[in-house]
Amino acid sequence: MNTTDGNRPQNPTPEGPAWIDSHAHLDMEDFDPDRDEAIRRAFAAGVTAVLCPADIASDKSLRTTLDIVARYPSFLAAAGVHPHQAKLYSENQARKLRDLGAGRTIAALGEIGLDFHYNFSAPEEQKRAFRDQLLLADELRLPVIIHSRLAGAEVATEVKKQGCRSGGILHCYTEDWDTARRMIDLGFYISFSGILTFPKAGSLREVASKVPLDRLLVETDSPFLAPVPFRDRKRNEPAFVVETARVLANLKGVSFEKLAEVTTRNFLSLFPRA
Ligand SMILES: [Zn+2]
Ligand SMILES: [Zn+2]
Repeated sequence: MNTTDGNRPQNPTPEGPAWIDSHAHLDMEDFDPDRDEAIRRAFAAGVTAVLCPADIASDKSLRTTLDIVARYPSFLAAAGVHPHQAKLYSENQARKLRDLGAGRTIAALGEIGLDFHYNFSAPEEQKRAFRDQLLLADELRLPVIIHSRLAGAEVATEVKKQGCRSGGILHCYTEDWDTARRMIDLGFYISFSGILTFPKAGSLREVASKVPLDRLLVETDSPFLAPVPFRDRKRNEPAFVVETARVLANLKGVSFEKLAEVTTRNFLSLFPRA
């Protein structure tokens, strides 16, 4: 790994509001030059924990993610087969996920889901991998991190059908209110990313304003989707989660501090050991 423990920033108790970035790909090579510095900036911004989803098909992704969560005890790892990679979903990957989940090396299965915008894997391949991993998560009693793009109705239907007793997160939410409502009824949390700050995201802001406070989470989906006012940056990072939070607090008509308190409480109710 690219850093030594001697350089590891400590996680201070923040003086201001405390945030949790519910989704950031800190394993990606975009962070290779300055991973610990980015985490240091996150701590300075009041971010106390990050959930890091690894790609189970990549040994490097998994290794880097597990190294991060080993060095930062409040951080959590997830792993899964992303809908883009669904065509590569294999018995071997399922076995690896089962082992990691059973040993609680990972706190959730994900990201898993359906992406009918890109369709990098055929819809039927996506559905097969999604269903299989939903069943596995249920068997392991682990929450799921769901990626859904232009697939809200199908995602809600599959989750309801397969059962997902440990619940989970709809991450980087971009679907409509009807899907949000169905997923909330199924016990899920809705996580908003920097997209919420984009000028054109008016209808998403309307959806966000309707999600009950006790179902809301915030995330960056770093290194993607840098929020306003950092759109010109090539890379997003967990410290910027506060920009999405500012917009969300406004939409909900609550203070920045109140939103920090509820989103942190929501995350901890799903992941008590974070
Ligand atoms: Zn995603
Ligand atoms: Zn992601």
